[in-house]
Amino acid sequence: MIAPGSTIGILGGGQLGRMLAVAAAQLGYRCHIFAPEADSVAAEVSAEFTCAEWDDAEAMARFARSCAVVTYEFENVPVAPLAAIGEVPLRPHPRALETAQDRLAEKRFVAGLGGKPAPFAPVDDRDDLAAAIREIGTPGILKTRRDGYDGKGQWRIRTAADAEALDWPGSPLVYEGFVDFSAEFSVIACRAADGTIRFYDSPANRHENGILALSAAPAPAAVLEQVGAARELAAEIAQGLGYVGVLTLEFFATEGGPVFNEMAPRVHNSGHWTIEGAVTSQFENHIRAICGLPLGDTALAARAVEMRNLIGEQAGDWAAILADPGNHLHLYGKSEIRAGRKMGHVTRLTL
Ligand code: AMP
Repeated sequence: MIAPGSTIGILGGGQLGRMLAVAAAQLGYRCHIFAPEADSVAAEVSAEFTCAEWDDAEAMARFARSCAVVTYEFENVPVAPLAAIGEVPLRPHPRALETAQDRLAEKRFVAGLGGKPAPFAPVDDRDDLAAAIREIGTPGILKTRRDGYDGKGQWRIRTAADAEALDWPGSPLVYEGFVDFSAEFSVIACRAADGTIRFYDSPANRHENGILALSAAPAPAAVLEQVGAARELAAEIAQGLGYVGVLTLEFFATEGGPVFNEMAPRVHNSGHWTIEGAVTSQFENHIRAICGLPLGDTALAARAVEMRNLIGEQAGDWAAILADPGNHLHLYGKSEIRAGRKMGHVTRLTL
Protein backbone atom coordinates (compact mmCIF):
# COMPACT_ATOMS: atom_id res chain seq x y z
CA MET A 1 0.00 0.00 0.00
CA ILE A 2 1.24 3.47 -0.83
CA ALA A 3 0.53 5.61 2.19
CA PRO A 4 -1.05 9.07 2.00
CA GLY A 5 1.68 11.70 2.12
CA SER A 6 3.65 9.88 -0.60
CA THR A 7 4.21 11.34 -4.05
CA ILE A 8 2.37 10.00 -7.10
CA GLY A 9 4.05 10.58 -10.46
CA ILE A 10 1.78 11.35 -13.41
CA LEU A 11 3.04 11.13 -16.99
CA GLY A 12 1.18 13.73 -19.05
CA GLY A 13 0.16 17.24 -18.13
CA GLY A 14 -3.40 17.77 -19.39
CA GLN A 15 -6.83 18.00 -17.80
CA LEU A 16 -6.98 14.30 -16.93
CA GLY A 17 -3.78 14.72 -14.90
CA ARG A 18 -5.24 17.82 -13.31
CA MET A 19 -8.38 16.00 -12.16
CA LEU A 20 -6.28 13.03 -10.98
CA ALA A 21 -4.06 15.38 -8.96
CA VAL A 22 -7.10 17.02 -7.32
CA ALA A 23 -8.45 13.58 -6.34
CA ALA A 24 -5.00 12.54 -5.06
CA ALA A 25 -4.73 15.70 -2.95
CA GLN A 26 -8.07 14.90 -1.34
CA LEU A 27 -6.58 11.58 -0.18
CA GLY A 28 -3.47 13.32 1.16
CA TYR A 29 -1.05 12.50 -1.67
CA ARG A 30 1.32 14.86 -3.48
CA CYS A 31 1.62 14.74 -7.26
CA HIS A 32 4.62 15.19 -9.54
CA ILE A 33 3.82 15.82 -13.20
CA PHE A 34 6.14 14.85 -16.06
CA ALA A 35 5.25 16.48 -19.38
CA PRO A 36 7.08 17.98 -22.36
CA GLU A 37 4.83 21.07 -22.58
CA ALA A 38 5.68 23.99 -20.27
CA ASP A 39 2.05 25.13 -19.91
CA SER A 40 0.72 22.09 -18.06
CA VAL A 41 -2.72 22.48 -16.49
CA ALA A 42 -1.96 19.43 -14.32
CA ALA A 43 1.28 20.94 -12.99
CA GLU A 44 -0.67 24.03 -11.86
CA VAL A 45 -2.40 21.95 -9.17
CA SER A 46 0.52 19.65 -8.33
CA ALA A 47 3.45 19.86 -5.92
CA GLU A 48 6.19 19.22 -8.48
CA PHE A 49 6.69 19.49 -12.22
CA THR A 50 9.37 18.05 -14.46
CA CYS A 51 9.14 19.65 -17.88
CA ALA A 52 11.26 17.47 -20.16
CA GLU A 53 11.08 15.50 -23.38
CA TRP A 54 9.81 11.91 -23.09
CA ASP A 55 13.18 10.52 -24.16
CA ASP A 56 15.17 12.48 -21.56
CA ALA A 57 16.22 9.40 -19.56
CA GLU A 58 18.02 11.41 -16.88
CA ALA A 59 14.96 13.60 -16.20
CA MET A 60 12.70 10.54 -16.23
CA ALA A 61 14.94 8.71 -13.70
CA ARG A 62 15.12 11.78 -11.43
CA PHE A 63 11.34 12.19 -11.62
CA ALA A 64 10.79 8.51 -10.77
CA ARG A 65 13.13 8.67 -7.75
CA SER A 66 10.80 11.26 -6.17
CA CYS A 67 7.71 9.03 -6.62
CA ALA A 68 6.27 6.07 -4.72
CA VAL A 69 4.23 5.05 -7.78
CA VAL A 70 3.94 6.35 -11.35
CA THR A 71 0.83 6.41 -13.55
CA TYR A 72 -0.14 8.03 -16.85
CA GLU A 73 -2.95 10.23 -18.12
CA PHE A 74 -1.94 10.19 -21.79
CA GLU A 75 -1.98 6.99 -23.84
CA ASN A 76 0.60 8.12 -26.36
CA VAL A 77 3.48 8.31 -23.85
CA PRO A 78 6.35 6.55 -25.70
CA VAL A 79 7.01 3.20 -24.03
CA ALA A 80 10.78 2.74 -24.50
CA PRO A 81 11.86 5.71 -22.30
CA LEU A 82 9.78 4.32 -19.42
CA ALA A 83 12.63 1.88 -18.71
CA ALA A 84 14.27 4.82 -16.88
CA ILE A 85 11.55 4.57 -14.22
CA GLY A 86 13.41 1.50 -12.94
CA GLU A 87 12.05 -0.17 -9.80
CA VAL A 88 9.29 2.33 -9.03
CA PRO A 89 5.92 0.67 -9.76
CA LEU A 90 4.31 1.87 -12.99
CA ARG A 91 0.55 1.30 -12.96
CA PRO A 92 -1.21 0.40 -15.17
CA HIS A 93 1.52 -1.85 -16.63
CA PRO A 94 3.01 -0.33 -19.83
CA ARG A 95 1.81 -3.35 -21.85
CA ALA A 96 -1.59 -1.58 -21.77
CA LEU A 97 0.05 1.43 -23.45
CA GLU A 98 1.68 -0.75 -26.10
CA THR A 99 -1.65 -2.34 -26.97
CA ALA A 100 -3.70 0.86 -27.00
CA GLN A 101 -1.18 2.93 -28.97
CA ASP A 102 -1.63 0.95 -32.16
CA ARG A 103 -5.21 0.61 -33.45
CA LEU A 104 -4.28 -2.54 -35.36
CA ALA A 105 -2.65 -4.29 -32.37
CA GLU A 106 -5.58 -3.18 -30.20
CA LYS A 107 -8.22 -4.61 -32.55
CA ARG A 108 -6.30 -7.89 -32.92
CA PHE A 109 -5.85 -8.20 -29.17
CA VAL A 110 -9.52 -7.52 -28.46
CA ALA A 111 -10.71 -9.83 -31.26
CA GLY A 112 -8.44 -12.54 -29.79
CA LEU A 113 -10.34 -12.25 -26.51
CA GLY A 114 -13.69 -12.71 -28.24
CA GLY A 115 -14.51 -9.01 -28.81
CA LYS A 116 -16.10 -7.85 -32.06
CA PRO A 117 -14.48 -4.80 -33.70
CA ALA A 118 -15.76 -3.36 -37.00
CA PRO A 119 -14.31 -5.31 -39.97
CA PHE A 120 -10.76 -3.98 -40.42
CA ALA A 121 -7.65 -4.35 -42.55
CA PRO A 122 -4.12 -2.90 -42.24
CA VAL A 123 -3.26 -0.38 -44.97
CA ASP A 124 0.24 0.74 -45.85
CA ASP A 125 -0.25 1.94 -49.41
CA ARG A 126 -2.89 2.65 -52.06
CA ASP A 127 -2.97 -0.97 -53.25
CA ASP A 128 -3.73 -2.13 -49.70
CA LEU A 129 -6.54 0.40 -49.47
CA ALA A 130 -8.08 -0.71 -52.76
CA ALA A 131 -7.88 -4.35 -51.54
CA ALA A 132 -9.40 -3.41 -48.15
CA ILE A 133 -12.29 -1.64 -49.88
CA ARG A 134 -12.89 -4.66 -52.13
CA GLU A 135 -12.97 -6.92 -49.06
CA ILE A 136 -14.84 -4.74 -46.55
CA GLY A 137 -16.74 -2.38 -48.85
CA THR A 138 -17.75 1.26 -48.46
CA PRO A 139 -18.56 3.39 -46.57
CA GLY A 140 -15.60 3.06 -44.26
CA ILE A 141 -13.09 5.07 -42.26
CA LEU A 142 -9.37 5.17 -42.81
CA LYS A 143 -7.50 5.87 -39.57
CA THR A 144 -3.86 6.35 -38.65
CA ARG A 145 -2.73 3.42 -36.53
CA ARG A 146 -0.94 5.71 -34.08
CA ASP A 147 -1.41 9.14 -32.49
CA GLY A 148 -4.98 9.81 -33.63
CA TYR A 149 -7.37 11.39 -31.15
CA ASP A 150 -10.60 13.42 -31.12
CA GLY A 151 -11.30 12.52 -34.74
CA LYS A 152 -7.84 13.61 -35.94
CA GLY A 153 -6.05 11.26 -38.32
CA GLN A 154 -9.32 9.93 -39.79
CA TRP A 155 -10.76 10.08 -43.28
CA ARG A 156 -14.29 9.05 -44.23
CA ILE A 157 -14.32 6.98 -47.41
CA ARG A 158 -17.79 7.06 -48.99
CA THR A 159 -16.84 5.53 -52.33
CA ALA A 160 -13.80 3.96 -53.98
CA ALA A 161 -13.39 7.30 -55.82
CA ASP A 162 -12.92 9.06 -52.42
CA ALA A 163 -10.05 6.69 -51.73
CA GLU A 164 -8.41 7.48 -55.06
CA ALA A 165 -8.75 11.24 -54.48
CA LEU A 166 -7.27 11.08 -50.97
CA ASP A 167 -4.09 13.04 -50.20
CA TRP A 168 -2.01 10.11 -48.99
CA PRO A 169 -1.27 10.50 -45.25
CA GLY A 170 1.92 8.45 -45.40
CA SER A 171 1.72 6.78 -42.00
CA PRO A 172 0.65 3.20 -41.20
CA LEU A 173 -3.14 3.05 -41.41
CA VAL A 174 -6.10 0.81 -40.77
CA TYR A 175 -9.30 0.76 -42.82
CA GLU A 176 -12.50 -0.13 -41.02
CA GLY A 177 -16.05 -0.63 -42.20
CA PHE A 178 -18.55 2.03 -41.17
CA VAL A 179 -20.68 0.73 -38.30
CA ASP A 180 -24.44 1.31 -38.41
CA PHE A 181 -25.09 1.96 -34.73
CA SER A 182 -28.07 3.14 -32.68
CA ALA A 183 -25.89 4.63 -29.92
CA GLU A 184 -22.35 4.86 -28.64
CA PHE A 185 -21.44 3.95 -25.10
CA SER A 186 -18.42 3.31 -22.93
CA VAL A 187 -17.50 0.83 -20.25
CA ILE A 188 -15.49 2.47 -17.49
CA ALA A 189 -13.94 -0.19 -15.29
CA CYS A 190 -11.61 0.07 -12.34
CA ARG A 191 -9.44 -2.89 -11.37
CA ALA A 192 -7.69 -2.98 -8.01
CA ALA A 193 -4.27 -4.53 -7.40
CA ASP A 194 -5.97 -7.60 -5.85
CA GLY A 195 -8.00 -8.17 -9.06
CA THR A 196 -11.30 -6.75 -7.78
CA ILE A 197 -13.08 -5.04 -10.67
CA ARG A 198 -15.87 -2.48 -10.46
CA PHE A 199 -17.84 -0.82 -13.23
CA TYR A 200 -19.49 2.55 -13.49
CA ASP A 201 -22.91 2.89 -15.08
CA SER A 202 -22.19 2.91 -18.80
CA PRO A 203 -23.01 6.35 -20.24
CA ALA A 204 -24.44 6.90 -23.71
CA ASN A 205 -21.98 9.14 -25.55
CA ARG A 206 -22.66 11.57 -28.36
CA HIS A 207 -19.80 12.70 -30.57
CA GLU A 208 -19.76 15.74 -32.81
CA ASN A 209 -17.02 16.04 -35.46
CA GLY A 210 -15.26 13.05 -33.88
CA ILE A 211 -15.12 14.76 -30.44
CA LEU A 212 -17.16 13.71 -27.43
CA ALA A 213 -19.93 16.27 -26.89
CA LEU A 214 -22.17 14.64 -24.27
CA SER A 215 -22.26 11.66 -21.87
CA ALA A 216 -25.45 10.69 -20.05
CA ALA A 217 -26.27 7.96 -17.53
CA PRO A 218 -28.31 5.88 -17.19
CA ALA A 219 -28.15 5.07 -20.88
CA PRO A 220 -31.26 4.14 -22.93
CA ALA A 221 -32.49 0.53 -23.07
CA ALA A 222 -30.79 -0.10 -26.44
CA VAL A 223 -27.46 0.42 -24.67
CA LEU A 224 -28.32 -1.16 -21.32
CA GLU A 225 -29.08 -4.52 -22.92
CA GLN A 226 -25.55 -4.60 -24.40
CA VAL A 227 -23.64 -3.51 -21.31
CA GLY A 228 -23.36 -7.02 -19.84
CA ALA A 229 -21.49 -8.43 -22.86
CA ALA A 230 -19.33 -5.30 -23.08
CA ARG A 231 -18.37 -5.58 -19.41
CA GLU A 232 -17.41 -9.23 -19.82
CA LEU A 233 -15.03 -8.22 -22.57
CA ALA A 234 -13.63 -5.36 -20.45
CA ALA A 235 -13.00 -7.77 -17.57
CA GLU A 236 -11.16 -10.18 -19.93
CA ILE A 237 -9.02 -7.34 -21.26
CA ALA A 238 -8.22 -5.99 -17.80
CA GLN A 239 -7.30 -9.43 -16.56
CA GLY A 240 -5.29 -10.24 -19.70
CA LEU A 241 -3.24 -7.07 -19.24
CA GLY A 242 -2.82 -7.53 -15.47
CA TYR A 243 -4.38 -4.09 -15.35
CA VAL A 244 -4.46 -1.84 -12.27
CA GLY A 245 -6.45 1.41 -12.44
CA VAL A 246 -9.26 2.80 -14.60
CA LEU A 247 -9.66 1.26 -18.05
CA THR A 248 -12.15 2.59 -20.62
CA LEU A 249 -13.61 0.82 -23.64
CA GLU A 250 -15.75 2.53 -26.27
CA PHE A 251 -18.49 0.63 -28.08
CA PHE A 252 -21.14 1.02 -30.75
CA ALA A 253 -24.54 -0.46 -29.83
CA THR A 254 -25.74 -2.34 -32.92
CA GLU A 255 -28.46 -4.86 -33.80
CA GLY A 256 -25.81 -7.57 -33.65
CA GLY A 257 -24.58 -6.59 -30.16
CA PRO A 258 -21.76 -4.34 -28.94
CA VAL A 259 -19.08 -3.52 -31.52
CA PHE A 260 -15.74 -2.58 -29.95
CA ASN A 261 -14.38 0.77 -31.16
CA GLU A 262 -11.31 1.54 -29.05
CA MET A 263 -9.84 1.42 -25.59
CA ALA A 264 -8.08 3.97 -23.42
CA PRO A 265 -5.76 2.74 -20.64
CA ARG A 266 -6.72 5.65 -18.42
CA VAL A 267 -9.48 7.74 -16.94
CA HIS A 268 -11.75 8.99 -19.72
CA ASN A 269 -13.74 12.02 -20.80
CA SER A 270 -16.93 9.91 -20.82
CA GLY A 271 -16.36 9.36 -17.07
CA HIS A 272 -16.08 13.01 -16.01
CA TRP A 273 -19.70 12.87 -14.79
CA THR A 274 -18.52 10.54 -11.99
CA ILE A 275 -17.02 13.49 -10.07
CA GLU A 276 -20.48 14.53 -8.87
CA GLY A 277 -22.63 11.76 -10.38
CA ALA A 278 -21.08 8.66 -8.78
CA VAL A 279 -20.39 7.83 -5.14
CA THR A 280 -16.63 7.72 -5.92
CA SER A 281 -15.21 9.44 -9.01
CA GLN A 282 -13.15 7.67 -11.68
CA PHE A 283 -10.21 9.88 -10.65
CA GLU A 284 -10.37 8.90 -6.98
CA ASN A 285 -10.79 5.22 -7.83
CA HIS A 286 -7.80 5.33 -10.18
CA ILE A 287 -5.68 6.83 -7.38
CA ARG A 288 -7.01 4.25 -4.91
CA ALA A 289 -6.23 1.39 -7.31
CA ILE A 290 -2.66 2.42 -8.12
CA CYS A 291 -1.94 3.03 -4.42
CA GLY A 292 -3.25 -0.41 -3.42
CA LEU A 293 -6.21 1.01 -1.46
CA PRO A 294 -9.69 -0.52 -1.49
CA LEU A 295 -11.92 0.79 -4.29
CA GLY A 296 -14.80 3.14 -3.56
CA ASP A 297 -18.41 2.57 -4.58
CA THR A 298 -19.03 3.21 -8.29
CA ALA A 299 -22.84 3.49 -8.01
CA LEU A 300 -24.75 6.44 -9.47
CA ALA A 301 -25.29 9.16 -6.87
CA ALA A 302 -28.37 10.58 -8.62
CA ARG A 303 -31.33 9.36 -10.67
CA ALA A 304 -29.61 10.63 -13.78
CA VAL A 305 -26.52 12.60 -14.73
CA GLU A 306 -25.41 14.41 -17.85
CA MET A 307 -22.00 15.80 -18.75
CA ARG A 308 -21.51 18.26 -21.59
CA ASN A 309 -18.06 19.17 -22.88
CA LEU A 310 -17.11 22.79 -23.35
CA ILE A 311 -15.20 22.84 -26.62
CA GLY A 312 -13.33 25.92 -27.83
CA GLU A 313 -15.45 29.09 -27.54
CA GLN A 314 -18.22 27.29 -25.60
CA ALA A 315 -16.14 27.78 -22.44
CA GLY A 316 -16.75 31.51 -22.77
CA ASP A 317 -20.32 30.91 -21.52
CA TRP A 318 -19.03 30.21 -18.00
CA ALA A 319 -20.96 33.09 -16.39
CA ALA A 320 -24.29 31.94 -17.86
CA ILE A 321 -23.52 28.35 -16.86
CA LEU A 322 -22.83 29.39 -13.27
CA ALA A 323 -26.04 31.42 -13.16
CA ASP A 324 -27.92 28.10 -13.06
CA PRO A 325 -27.31 26.69 -9.56
CA GLY A 326 -27.80 23.10 -10.78
CA ASN A 327 -24.70 23.23 -12.97
CA HIS A 328 -21.30 21.97 -11.83
CA LEU A 329 -18.73 23.84 -13.90
CA HIS A 330 -15.22 22.51 -14.46
CA LEU A 331 -12.72 24.68 -16.32
CA TYR A 332 -9.30 23.22 -17.04
CA GLY A 333 -7.35 26.48 -16.86
CA LYS A 334 -6.17 26.39 -20.47
CA SER A 335 -5.08 29.88 -21.46
CA GLU A 336 -5.48 29.55 -25.20
CA ILE A 337 -8.94 28.90 -26.65
CA ARG A 338 -8.68 26.89 -29.88
CA ALA A 339 -11.41 25.37 -32.04
CA GLY A 340 -11.89 21.71 -31.10
CA ARG A 341 -9.93 22.10 -27.82
CA LYS A 342 -11.48 20.66 -24.66
CA MET A 343 -11.62 23.65 -22.30
CA GLY A 344 -13.91 22.31 -19.58
CA HIS A 345 -17.19 20.50 -18.92
CA VAL A 346 -20.52 20.96 -17.17
CA THR A 347 -22.29 18.27 -15.18
CA ARG A 348 -25.95 18.24 -14.16
CA LEU A 349 -27.59 15.78 -11.81
CA THR A 350 -31.26 14.84 -11.69
CA LEU A 351 -31.82 14.08 -8.02
P1 AMP B 1 -12.41 7.18 -32.69
O1 AMP B 1 -11.34 8.23 -32.57
O2 AMP B 1 -11.96 5.97 -33.40
O3 AMP B 1 -13.08 6.90 -31.39
O4 AMP B 1 -13.55 7.85 -33.60
C1 AMP B 1 -14.26 9.01 -33.19
C2 AMP B 1 -15.73 8.88 -33.53
O5 AMP B 1 -15.92 8.69 -34.94
C3 AMP B 1 -16.41 7.67 -32.89
O6 AMP B 1 -16.77 7.88 -31.56
C4 AMP B 1 -17.61 7.52 -33.82
O7 AMP B 1 -18.59 8.50 -33.56
C5 AMP B 1 -17.01 7.79 -35.19
N1 AMP B 1 -16.49 6.52 -35.74
C6 AMP B 1 -15.23 6.04 -35.62
N2 AMP B 1 -15.09 4.84 -36.24
C7 AMP B 1 -16.31 4.53 -36.76
C8 AMP B 1 -16.82 3.42 -37.50
N3 AMP B 1 -16.04 2.38 -37.87
N4 AMP B 1 -18.13 3.44 -37.85
C9 AMP B 1 -18.92 4.48 -37.50
N5 AMP B 1 -18.50 5.57 -36.82
C10 AMP B 1 -17.20 5.60 -36.44
